Amino acid sequence: MSRLLLSLTLLLYLRFVSAFDEELPRIAIVGAGIGGTSTAYYLRQLFGDQAVIDIYESNSVGGRLDTLKFDGEFIETGGSTLHPKNAYMLNFTKILGLEAKELENNGFGIYDGKEFQFRTSSYKIVTLLKAFWRYGNDLQRVANWVDDLISKKFTRIYNHQLKGYAFTTVKDLLLSMDQLMLNLTTRPLEETLKEMGFSDRFIAEPVTVAVRTNYGQTVNIQSFVGSLALAGMQPGLFAIKGGNKQVSEKLLKESKANFIHAEVKKISLLKEHDSIQYELFYKPHNSTEQNSMQNHIYDIVIIAMPLHQDSKDIKFEGFISPLSYSQPFYRTVATFIQGEVNASFFDFDKEGDLPNTILINAEPYFINSISKRRKNLWKVFSRELLTESEKNLLFKSIEKTTVYNWLAYPAYSSSQKLLPFVLHDQLYYVNAMESAASTIETSVIAARNVALLVKNHWFNLFDYIDEIPNESDENKIKGEL
Ligand SMILES: Cc1cc2nc3c(=O)[nH]c(=O)nc-3n(C[C@H](O)[C@H](O)[C@H](O)COP(=O)(O)OP(=O)(O)OC[C@H]3O[C@@H](n4cnc5c(N)ncnc54)[C@H](O)[C@@H]3O)c2cc1C
Repeated sequence: MSRLLLSLTLLLYLRFVSAFDEELPRIAIVGAGIGGTSTAYYLRQLFGDQAVIDIYESNSVGGRLDTLKFDGEFIETGGSTLHPKNAYMLNFTKILGLEAKELENNGFGIYDGKEFQFRTSSYKIVTLLKAFWRYGNDLQRVANWVDDLISKKFTRIYNHQLKGYAFTTVKDLLLSMDQLMLNLTTRPLEETLKEMGFSDRFIAEPVTVAVRTNYGQTVNIQSFVGSLALAGMQPGLFAIKGGNKQVSEKLLKESKANFIHAEVKKISLLKEHDSIQYELFYKPHNSTEQNSMQNHIYDIVIIAMPLHQDSKDIKFEGFISPLSYSQPFYRTVATFIQGEVNASFFDFDKEGDLPNTILINAEPYFINSISKRRKNLWKVFSRELLTESEKNLLFKSIEKTTVYNWLAYPAYSSSQKLLPFVLHDQLYYVNAMESAASTIETSVIAARNVALLVKNHWFNLFDYIDEIPNESDENKIKGEL
Protein backbone atom coordinates (compact mmCIF):
# COMPACT_ATOMS: atom_id res chain seq x y z
CA MET A 1 0.00 0.00 0.00
CA SER A 2 2.74 2.44 1.02
CA ARG A 3 4.63 1.53 -2.18
CA LEU A 4 1.57 2.43 -4.25
CA LEU A 5 1.33 5.74 -2.41
CA LEU A 6 5.01 6.41 -3.02
CA SER A 7 4.70 5.66 -6.75
CA LEU A 8 1.63 7.89 -7.02
CA THR A 9 3.42 10.75 -5.24
CA LEU A 10 6.43 10.32 -7.53
CA LEU A 11 4.19 10.34 -10.61
CA LEU A 12 2.43 13.48 -9.47
CA TYR A 13 5.78 15.15 -8.71
CA LEU A 14 7.18 14.25 -12.16
CA ARG A 15 4.05 15.60 -13.82
CA PHE A 16 4.35 18.83 -11.88
CA VAL A 17 8.02 19.21 -12.79
CA SER A 18 7.46 18.53 -16.48
CA ALA A 19 4.46 20.90 -16.58
CA PHE A 20 6.67 23.57 -15.06
CA ASP A 21 9.40 22.77 -17.60
CA GLU A 22 7.01 23.06 -20.51
CA GLU A 23 5.94 26.43 -19.24
CA LEU A 24 9.42 27.92 -19.32
CA PRO A 25 9.89 30.49 -22.08
CA ARG A 26 12.73 30.58 -24.60
CA ILE A 27 14.31 33.99 -24.11
CA ALA A 28 16.64 36.09 -26.29
CA ILE A 29 18.53 39.12 -24.96
CA VAL A 30 20.02 41.55 -27.49
CA GLY A 31 23.14 43.29 -26.11
CA ALA A 32 25.68 42.14 -23.52
CA GLY A 33 26.43 45.44 -21.79
CA ILE A 34 25.77 45.78 -18.07
CA GLY A 35 22.01 45.95 -18.87
CA GLY A 36 21.89 42.72 -20.90
CA THR A 37 24.21 40.69 -18.70
CA SER A 38 22.43 41.65 -15.49
CA THR A 39 19.08 40.83 -17.14
CA ALA A 40 20.47 37.35 -17.95
CA TYR A 41 21.67 36.98 -14.35
CA TYR A 42 18.29 37.92 -12.83
CA LEU A 43 16.34 35.82 -15.34
CA ARG A 44 18.39 32.78 -14.39
CA GLN A 45 17.58 33.41 -10.72
CA LEU A 46 13.87 33.75 -11.49
CA PHE A 47 13.42 30.93 -14.04
CA GLY A 48 15.98 28.39 -12.84
CA ASP A 49 18.52 26.25 -14.65
CA GLN A 50 16.21 24.81 -17.30
CA ALA A 51 15.17 28.07 -19.03
CA VAL A 52 16.78 28.77 -22.42
CA ILE A 53 18.48 32.18 -22.31
CA ASP A 54 20.45 33.26 -25.38
CA ILE A 55 22.35 36.56 -25.34
CA TYR A 56 23.47 38.24 -28.59
CA GLU A 57 26.37 40.69 -28.74
CA SER A 58 27.75 42.26 -31.91
CA ASN A 59 30.85 43.75 -30.31
CA SER A 60 32.36 43.04 -26.89
CA VAL A 61 30.84 42.13 -23.53
CA GLY A 62 30.49 45.24 -21.36
CA GLY A 63 29.36 47.60 -24.15
CA ARG A 64 29.79 51.14 -22.85
CA LEU A 65 31.95 49.72 -20.03
CA ASP A 66 35.40 49.29 -21.50
CA THR A 67 39.05 49.75 -20.58
CA LEU A 68 42.36 50.75 -22.08
CA LYS A 69 45.41 48.83 -20.90
CA PHE A 70 48.26 51.16 -19.97
CA ASP A 71 51.45 50.14 -18.12
CA GLY A 72 49.77 46.93 -16.94
CA GLU A 73 46.75 48.80 -15.55
CA PHE A 74 43.19 49.09 -16.85
CA ILE A 75 41.84 52.59 -17.38
CA GLU A 76 38.11 53.19 -17.85
CA THR A 77 37.22 54.59 -21.27
CA GLY A 78 33.41 54.66 -20.88
CA GLY A 79 31.27 54.37 -17.73
CA SER A 80 33.82 54.94 -15.02
CA THR A 81 32.40 56.13 -11.74
CA LEU A 82 30.11 54.43 -9.25
CA HIS A 83 28.34 56.07 -6.31
CA PRO A 84 28.58 54.63 -2.78
CA LYS A 85 24.77 54.22 -2.73
CA ASN A 86 24.79 52.07 -5.92
CA ALA A 87 23.57 49.02 -4.00
CA TYR A 88 23.46 46.59 -6.95
CA MET A 89 26.95 47.39 -8.21
CA LEU A 90 28.32 47.14 -4.66
CA ASN A 91 26.55 43.82 -4.20
CA PHE A 92 27.85 42.46 -7.54
CA THR A 93 31.37 43.52 -6.54
CA LYS A 94 31.01 41.40 -3.41
CA ILE A 95 29.32 38.29 -4.81
CA LEU A 96 31.43 38.17 -7.98
CA GLY A 97 34.69 38.30 -6.04
CA LEU A 98 35.74 41.72 -7.36
CA GLU A 99 37.32 44.61 -5.53
CA ALA A 100 36.03 48.17 -5.28
CA LYS A 101 38.64 50.92 -5.28
CA GLU A 102 37.76 54.36 -4.01
CA LEU A 103 38.53 57.08 -6.52
CA GLU A 104 40.98 59.67 -5.34
CA ASN A 105 40.09 63.31 -5.73
CA ASN A 106 43.37 64.69 -7.04
CA GLY A 107 42.09 68.20 -7.47
CA PHE A 108 40.35 70.07 -10.25
CA GLY A 109 39.94 73.49 -11.78
CA ILE A 110 37.03 75.16 -13.59
CA TYR A 111 38.35 76.97 -16.68
CA ASP A 112 36.15 79.41 -18.60
CA GLY A 113 38.25 79.47 -21.77
CA LYS A 114 40.39 82.39 -20.54
CA GLU A 115 41.04 81.82 -16.86
CA PHE A 116 40.30 79.54 -13.92
CA GLN A 117 37.11 80.42 -12.06
CA PHE A 118 37.90 77.98 -9.28
CA ARG A 119 40.83 75.72 -8.34
CA THR A 120 41.20 73.26 -5.52
CA SER A 121 44.28 73.45 -3.32
CA SER A 122 46.44 70.55 -2.17
CA TYR A 123 45.30 71.48 1.36
CA LYS A 124 41.71 70.35 1.98
CA ILE A 125 41.00 73.17 4.44
CA VAL A 126 42.11 75.79 1.89
CA THR A 127 39.85 74.21 -0.75
CA LEU A 128 36.90 74.30 1.67
CA LEU A 129 37.53 77.95 2.52
CA LYS A 130 37.89 78.91 -1.16
CA ALA A 131 34.66 77.07 -2.01
CA PHE A 132 32.82 78.73 0.87
CA TRP A 133 34.14 82.14 -0.17
CA ARG A 134 32.95 81.71 -3.75
CA TYR A 135 29.75 79.66 -3.37
CA GLY A 136 28.69 80.12 0.28
CA ASN A 137 27.26 76.87 1.63
CA ASP A 138 25.67 75.89 -1.71
CA LEU A 139 28.06 72.94 -2.13
CA GLN A 140 26.94 71.48 1.21
CA ARG A 141 23.27 72.26 0.47
CA VAL A 142 23.36 70.56 -2.91
CA ALA A 143 25.11 67.54 -1.36
CA ASN A 144 22.33 67.34 1.26
CA TRP A 145 19.62 67.60 -1.43
CA VAL A 146 21.13 64.83 -3.56
CA ASP A 147 21.77 62.68 -0.49
CA ASP A 148 18.16 63.06 0.58
CA LEU A 149 16.83 62.16 -2.88
CA ILE A 150 19.01 59.08 -3.11
CA SER A 151 18.72 57.80 0.47
CA LYS A 152 15.05 58.50 1.09
CA LYS A 153 13.49 58.08 -2.36
CA PHE A 154 15.70 56.48 -5.02
CA THR A 155 16.68 53.51 -2.83
CA ARG A 156 13.01 52.50 -2.35
CA ILE A 157 13.22 50.70 -5.68
CA TYR A 158 15.55 48.11 -4.12
CA ASN A 159 12.89 47.01 -1.63
CA HIS A 160 10.20 46.92 -4.32
CA GLN A 161 12.34 44.69 -6.51
CA LEU A 162 13.32 42.48 -3.59
CA LYS A 163 9.62 41.80 -3.10
CA GLY A 164 9.09 41.00 -6.80
CA TYR A 165 7.32 44.17 -7.97
CA ALA A 166 7.87 45.33 -11.55
CA PHE A 167 6.78 48.30 -13.65
CA THR A 168 5.73 48.50 -17.28
CA THR A 169 6.94 52.06 -17.84
CA VAL A 170 9.78 54.26 -16.62
CA LYS A 171 7.10 56.66 -15.39
CA ASP A 172 5.59 53.98 -13.09
CA LEU A 173 9.01 52.90 -11.86
CA LEU A 174 9.88 56.48 -10.85
CA LEU A 175 6.44 56.94 -9.28
CA SER A 176 7.11 53.88 -7.12
CA MET A 177 10.11 55.74 -5.70
CA ASP A 178 8.13 58.93 -5.10
CA GLN A 179 5.93 61.39 -7.02
CA LEU A 180 8.78 63.91 -6.66
CA MET A 181 11.14 61.70 -8.70
CA LEU A 182 8.69 61.76 -11.61
CA ASN A 183 8.12 65.51 -11.22
CA LEU A 184 11.87 66.09 -11.45
CA THR A 185 11.88 64.66 -14.99
CA THR A 186 9.59 67.47 -16.16
CA ARG A 187 11.60 70.42 -14.82
CA PRO A 188 14.92 71.87 -16.03
CA LEU A 189 17.69 71.46 -13.45
CA GLU A 190 18.42 75.20 -13.50
CA GLU A 191 14.80 76.03 -12.61
CA THR A 192 14.70 73.48 -9.77
CA LEU A 193 17.93 74.75 -8.24
CA LYS A 194 16.95 78.43 -8.60
CA GLU A 195 13.66 77.75 -6.89
CA MET A 196 15.58 76.12 -4.03
CA GLY A 197 17.61 79.32 -3.65
CA PHE A 198 20.95 78.23 -5.12
CA SER A 199 23.01 81.18 -6.35
CA ASP A 200 23.40 82.01 -10.06
CA ARG A 201 27.18 81.68 -9.74
CA PHE A 202 26.91 78.23 -8.17
CA ILE A 203 24.62 77.07 -11.00
CA ALA A 204 26.80 78.72 -13.67
CA GLU A 205 30.03 77.14 -12.40
CA PRO A 206 30.15 73.78 -10.50
CA VAL A 207 26.65 72.67 -11.53
CA THR A 208 27.22 73.56 -15.19
CA VAL A 209 30.54 71.71 -15.36
CA ALA A 210 29.14 68.67 -13.51
CA VAL A 211 26.38 68.34 -16.13
CA ARG A 212 28.75 69.06 -18.99
CA THR A 213 31.31 66.53 -17.77
CA ASN A 214 28.82 63.76 -17.00
CA TYR A 215 26.32 64.25 -19.82
CA GLY A 216 27.93 66.72 -22.25
CA GLN A 217 24.85 68.94 -21.88
CA THR A 218 23.62 72.10 -20.17
CA VAL A 219 21.68 72.90 -17.00
CA ASN A 220 18.53 72.73 -19.14
CA ILE A 221 18.55 68.94 -18.75
CA GLN A 222 15.72 67.58 -16.62
CA SER A 223 16.29 67.57 -12.88
CA PHE A 224 16.16 63.78 -12.28
CA VAL A 225 19.19 63.03 -14.45
CA GLY A 226 20.64 66.38 -13.30
CA SER A 227 20.55 65.27 -9.66
CA LEU A 228 22.41 62.07 -10.60
CA ALA A 229 25.03 64.16 -12.42
CA LEU A 230 25.46 66.17 -9.22
CA ALA A 231 25.85 62.92 -7.26
CA GLY A 232 29.11 62.60 -9.23
CA MET A 233 30.47 65.49 -7.10
CA GLN A 234 30.04 63.55 -3.84
CA PRO A 235 32.73 61.78 -1.83
CA GLY A 236 33.15 57.99 -1.74
CA LEU A 237 32.94 57.42 -5.50
CA PHE A 238 34.45 54.13 -6.60
CA ALA A 239 35.25 51.89 -9.56
CA ILE A 240 36.02 48.19 -9.90
CA LYS A 241 39.70 47.34 -9.67
CA GLY A 242 40.78 45.99 -13.06
CA GLY A 243 37.82 47.54 -14.90
CA ASN A 244 34.04 47.92 -14.46
CA LYS A 245 33.36 45.69 -17.45
CA GLN A 246 34.43 42.66 -15.41
CA VAL A 247 31.02 42.86 -13.71
CA SER A 248 29.35 42.22 -17.10
CA GLU A 249 31.77 39.42 -17.94
CA LYS A 250 31.23 37.67 -14.62
CA LEU A 251 27.44 38.14 -14.65
CA LEU A 252 27.34 36.54 -18.08
CA LYS A 253 29.26 33.55 -16.76
CA GLU A 254 27.09 33.26 -13.65
CA SER A 255 23.91 33.43 -15.73
CA LYS A 256 24.99 30.41 -17.82
CA ALA A 257 23.26 32.08 -20.77
CA ASN A 258 24.34 30.96 -24.25
CA PHE A 259 26.54 33.70 -25.67
CA ILE A 260 26.05 34.28 -29.40
CA HIS A 261 28.62 36.62 -30.95
CA ALA A 262 26.43 38.10 -33.65
CA GLU A 263 24.64 41.22 -34.78
CA VAL A 264 20.86 41.04 -34.55
CA LYS A 265 19.37 42.40 -37.75
CA LYS A 266 15.65 41.79 -37.61
CA ILE A 267 12.93 40.80 -35.15
CA SER A 268 9.71 39.46 -36.69
CA LEU A 269 6.46 39.06 -34.83
CA LEU A 270 4.87 35.63 -35.37
CA LYS A 271 1.26 35.76 -34.23
CA GLU A 272 -1.18 32.89 -34.26
CA HIS A 273 -4.53 33.46 -32.51
CA ASP A 274 -3.53 34.48 -28.97
CA SER A 275 -0.06 33.04 -29.08
CA ILE A 276 2.98 35.18 -29.78
CA GLN A 277 6.51 34.25 -30.74
CA TYR A 278 9.38 36.15 -32.31
CA GLU A 279 11.76 35.13 -35.04
CA LEU A 280 15.14 36.73 -34.55
CA PHE A 281 17.50 37.08 -37.53
CA TYR A 282 21.20 37.57 -36.89
CA LYS A 283 24.51 37.75 -38.65
CA PRO A 284 27.24 35.79 -36.85
CA HIS A 285 30.42 37.69 -36.04
CA ASN A 286 33.13 37.39 -38.72
CA SER A 287 30.78 35.72 -41.21
CA THR A 288 31.82 36.76 -44.67
CA GLU A 289 29.20 35.24 -46.95
CA GLN A 290 26.46 37.48 -48.25
CA ASN A 291 23.82 34.97 -47.22
CA SER A 292 25.07 34.35 -43.74
CA MET A 293 21.88 35.39 -41.94
CA GLN A 294 20.66 32.85 -39.39
CA ASN A 295 17.51 32.75 -37.30
CA HIS A 296 15.98 31.41 -34.08
CA ILE A 297 12.49 31.50 -32.63
CA TYR A 298 11.80 32.77 -29.11
CA ASP A 299 8.82 33.30 -26.81
CA ILE A 300 10.36 36.43 -25.37
CA VAL A 301 12.82 38.97 -26.75
CA ILE A 302 14.54 41.54 -24.54
CA ILE A 303 16.29 44.50 -26.15
CA ALA A 304 19.22 45.55 -23.92
CA MET A 305 20.82 48.13 -26.20
CA PRO A 306 19.74 51.67 -26.94
CA LEU A 307 17.44 52.04 -29.93
CA HIS A 308 18.75 55.46 -30.89
CA GLN A 309 18.91 57.13 -34.24
CA ASP A 310 22.21 55.43 -35.14
CA SER A 311 21.42 51.99 -33.68
CA LYS A 312 22.68 49.19 -35.80
CA ASP A 313 19.49 49.07 -37.79
CA ILE A 314 17.48 46.36 -36.10
CA LYS A 315 14.35 46.05 -38.21
CA PHE A 316 11.02 45.27 -36.56
CA GLU A 317 8.64 43.37 -38.82
CA GLY A 318 5.02 42.23 -38.57
CA PHE A 319 3.85 44.81 -36.02
CA ILE A 320 0.56 46.55 -36.80
CA SER A 321 1.59 49.89 -35.33
CA PRO A 322 5.12 51.33 -35.09
CA LEU A 323 6.94 50.66 -31.82
CA SER A 324 7.56 53.64 -29.55
CA TYR A 325 11.20 53.79 -28.53
CA SER A 326 13.33 56.26 -30.43
CA GLN A 327 15.52 58.67 -28.50
CA PRO A 328 18.24 60.95 -29.91
CA PHE A 329 21.69 60.31 -28.43
CA TYR A 330 24.70 62.58 -27.79
CA ARG A 331 28.14 61.69 -29.08
CA THR A 332 31.04 61.88 -26.62
CA VAL A 333 34.61 61.27 -27.69
CA ALA A 334 37.17 60.06 -25.14
CA THR A 335 40.69 60.63 -26.51
CA PHE A 336 43.63 59.16 -24.59
CA ILE A 337 46.83 60.98 -25.36
CA GLN A 338 50.23 59.82 -24.22
CA GLY A 339 52.59 62.77 -24.35
CA GLU A 340 53.77 66.05 -22.86
CA VAL A 341 50.91 68.40 -22.06
CA ASN A 342 51.22 72.07 -23.02
CA ALA A 343 50.73 73.84 -19.67
CA SER A 344 51.12 77.28 -21.30
CA PHE A 345 47.80 76.74 -23.12
CA PHE A 346 46.19 77.23 -19.67
CA ASP A 347 48.68 80.02 -18.75
CA PHE A 348 50.85 77.87 -16.50
CA ASP A 349 54.63 77.64 -16.64
CA LYS A 350 54.92 73.93 -16.02
CA GLU A 351 52.81 70.81 -16.02
CA GLY A 352 53.21 70.30 -12.26
CA ASP A 353 51.16 73.47 -11.61
CA LEU A 354 48.15 72.31 -13.65
CA PRO A 355 45.11 70.93 -11.82
CA ASN A 356 44.83 67.17 -12.37
CA THR A 357 41.43 67.64 -13.96
CA ILE A 358 40.40 70.72 -15.90
CA LEU A 359 36.66 71.12 -16.37
CA ILE A 360 35.77 73.48 -19.18
CA ASN A 361 33.05 76.03 -18.53
CA ALA A 362 32.72 77.68 -21.94
CA GLU A 363 30.22 77.06 -24.71
CA PRO A 364 31.07 76.34 -27.46
CA TYR A 365 34.56 74.98 -26.76
CA PHE A 366 36.52 72.23 -28.47
CA ILE A 367 36.89 70.07 -25.34
CA ASN A 368 34.72 69.37 -22.28
CA SER A 369 37.51 68.30 -19.94
CA ILE A 370 41.09 67.11 -19.77
CA SER A 371 42.44 65.01 -16.93
CA LYS A 372 45.67 63.29 -16.09
CA ARG A 373 45.15 59.53 -15.73
CA ARG A 374 48.72 58.32 -15.30
CA LYS A 375 52.22 59.82 -15.49
CA ASN A 376 52.07 60.94 -19.13
CA LEU A 377 48.59 59.73 -20.07
CA TRP A 378 45.77 62.26 -20.43
CA LYS A 379 42.07 61.69 -21.07
CA VAL A 380 40.30 64.37 -23.10
CA PHE A 381 36.52 64.47 -23.46
CA SER A 382 35.07 66.32 -26.43
CA ARG A 383 31.88 66.36 -28.44
CA GLU A 384 33.64 65.89 -31.77
CA LEU A 385 36.79 64.05 -32.82
CA LEU A 386 39.81 66.26 -32.04
CA THR A 387 41.65 67.62 -35.05
CA GLU A 388 45.47 67.48 -35.28
CA SER A 389 45.73 71.21 -34.65
CA GLU A 390 43.47 70.98 -31.58
CA LYS A 391 45.63 68.19 -30.17
CA ASN A 392 48.72 70.29 -30.87
CA LEU A 393 47.27 73.17 -28.87
CA LEU A 394 46.96 70.93 -25.83
CA PHE A 395 50.17 68.93 -26.20
CA LYS A 396 53.82 69.82 -26.85
CA SER A 397 54.54 66.30 -28.02
CA ILE A 398 52.38 63.24 -28.63
CA GLU A 399 53.58 59.63 -28.51
CA LYS A 400 50.29 57.84 -28.95
CA THR A 401 46.58 58.62 -29.34
CA THR A 402 43.70 56.19 -28.72
CA VAL A 403 40.15 57.28 -29.50
CA TYR A 404 36.84 55.96 -28.13
CA ASN A 405 33.98 57.48 -30.04
CA TRP A 406 30.85 56.81 -27.98
CA LEU A 407 27.23 57.35 -28.82
CA ALA A 408 27.06 57.97 -25.13
CA TYR A 409 23.73 59.03 -23.62
CA PRO A 410 20.37 60.49 -24.62
CA ALA A 411 19.76 64.19 -25.15
CA TYR A 412 17.82 65.23 -22.05
CA SER A 413 15.16 67.91 -21.75
CA SER A 414 12.24 68.57 -19.47
CA SER A 415 9.77 67.98 -22.31
CA GLN A 416 11.10 64.60 -23.43
CA LYS A 417 9.02 61.41 -23.30
CA LEU A 418 9.69 58.70 -20.73
CA LEU A 419 9.67 55.35 -22.51
CA PRO A 420 7.91 52.03 -21.81
CA PHE A 421 9.75 48.84 -20.77
CA VAL A 422 7.20 46.86 -22.84
CA LEU A 423 7.38 47.55 -26.59
CA HIS A 424 4.83 44.83 -27.41
CA ASP A 425 3.54 41.66 -25.70
CA GLN A 426 6.62 39.56 -24.83
CA LEU A 427 9.00 42.18 -26.27
CA TYR A 428 10.83 44.19 -23.61
CA TYR A 429 13.20 47.18 -23.66
CA VAL A 430 15.74 47.53 -20.81
CA ASN A 431 17.23 50.79 -22.14
CA ALA A 432 13.89 52.58 -21.83
CA MET A 433 15.39 53.54 -18.45
CA GLU A 434 17.87 55.81 -20.22
CA SER A 435 15.00 58.15 -21.05
CA ALA A 436 15.09 59.09 -17.33
CA ALA A 437 18.82 58.69 -16.70
CA SER A 438 21.76 56.83 -18.17
CA THR A 439 23.99 55.37 -15.47
CA ILE A 440 25.44 51.96 -14.71
CA GLU A 441 23.29 51.42 -11.61
CA THR A 442 20.05 52.51 -13.30
CA SER A 443 20.83 50.01 -16.12
CA VAL A 444 20.94 47.25 -13.50
CA ILE A 445 17.71 48.49 -11.90
CA ALA A 446 16.07 48.43 -15.35
CA ALA A 447 17.47 44.93 -15.97
CA ARG A 448 16.00 43.56 -12.76
CA ASN A 449 12.72 45.33 -13.49
CA VAL A 450 12.50 43.71 -16.93
CA ALA A 451 13.44 40.26 -15.56
CA LEU A 452 10.68 40.59 -12.93
CA LEU A 453 8.21 41.84 -15.55
CA VAL A 454 8.96 38.83 -17.75
CA LYS A 455 8.32 36.50 -14.83
CA ASN A 456 5.18 38.30 -13.59
CA HIS A 457 3.67 38.41 -17.10
CA TRP A 458 4.63 34.80 -17.89
CA PHE A 459 3.11 33.40 -14.68
CA ASN A 460 0.18 35.88 -14.59
CA LEU A 461 1.30 37.49 -11.33
CA PHE A 462 -0.60 40.69 -12.12
CA ASP A 463 -0.72 41.86 -8.49
CA TYR A 464 3.02 42.47 -8.81
CA ILE A 465 2.84 44.68 -11.88
CA ASP A 466 2.52 48.47 -11.61
CA GLU A 467 1.48 48.23 -7.97
CA ILE A 468 3.33 50.12 -5.28
CA PRO A 469 3.91 48.07 -2.13
CA ASN A 470 2.63 49.75 0.97
CA GLU A 471 5.48 50.23 3.40
CA SER A 472 5.88 52.21 6.56
CA ASP A 473 9.67 52.12 6.74
CA GLU A 474 11.40 51.65 3.43
CA ASN A 475 14.56 53.53 4.15
CA LYS A 476 16.67 50.50 4.81
CA ILE A 477 17.15 47.80 2.22
CA LYS A 478 15.81 44.70 3.88
CA GLY A 479 17.04 41.25 3.00
CA GLU A 480 19.60 40.17 0.43
CA LEU A 481 19.77 41.95 -2.91
C1 LIG B 1 32.01 58.09 -22.02
C2 LIG B 1 30.97 57.59 -21.06
C3 LIG B 1 31.11 57.87 -19.70
C4 LIG B 1 30.16 57.40 -18.81
N1 LIG B 1 30.36 57.62 -17.48
C5 LIG B 1 29.54 57.02 -16.57
C6 LIG B 1 29.86 57.05 -15.19
O1 LIG B 1 30.90 57.59 -14.78
N2 LIG B 1 29.01 56.44 -14.33
C7 LIG B 1 27.88 55.80 -14.74
O2 LIG B 1 27.14 55.26 -13.90
N3 LIG B 1 27.57 55.74 -16.07
C8 LIG B 1 28.38 56.32 -16.99
N4 LIG B 1 28.11 56.21 -18.32
C9 LIG B 1 26.87 55.56 -18.74
C10 LIG B 1 26.96 54.03 -18.64
O3 LIG B 1 28.20 53.59 -19.16
C11 LIG B 1 25.82 53.40 -19.45
O4 LIG B 1 24.59 53.93 -18.97
C12 LIG B 1 25.74 51.89 -19.29
O5 LIG B 1 27.01 51.29 -19.42
C13 LIG B 1 24.78 51.36 -20.36
O6 LIG B 1 24.80 49.94 -20.35
P1 LIG B 1 23.81 49.13 -21.30
O7 LIG B 1 24.10 47.71 -21.10
O8 LIG B 1 22.42 49.58 -21.02
O9 LIG B 1 24.15 49.58 -22.78
P2 LIG B 1 25.47 49.27 -23.62
O10 LIG B 1 26.64 49.23 -22.72
O11 LIG B 1 25.48 50.24 -24.74
O12 LIG B 1 25.24 47.79 -24.16
C14 LIG B 1 24.54 47.51 -25.34
C15 LIG B 1 25.27 46.40 -26.06
O13 LIG B 1 24.49 46.02 -27.22
C16 LIG B 1 25.37 45.72 -28.28
N5 LIG B 1 24.61 45.84 -29.54
C17 LIG B 1 24.23 46.97 -30.17
N6 LIG B 1 23.55 46.68 -31.29
C18 LIG B 1 23.50 45.32 -31.37
C19 LIG B 1 22.92 44.41 -32.31
N7 LIG B 1 22.24 44.83 -33.36
N8 LIG B 1 23.07 43.08 -32.09
C20 LIG B 1 23.75 42.61 -31.00
N9 LIG B 1 24.30 43.44 -30.08
C21 LIG B 1 24.17 44.78 -30.26
C22 LIG B 1 26.48 46.75 -28.13
O14 LIG B 1 27.65 46.31 -28.79
C23 LIG B 1 26.63 46.82 -26.62
O15 LIG B 1 27.62 45.95 -26.13
C24 LIG B 1 29.04 56.67 -19.26
C25 LIG B 1 28.90 56.38 -20.62
C26 LIG B 1 29.87 56.82 -21.52
C27 LIG B 1 29.73 56.47 -22.96
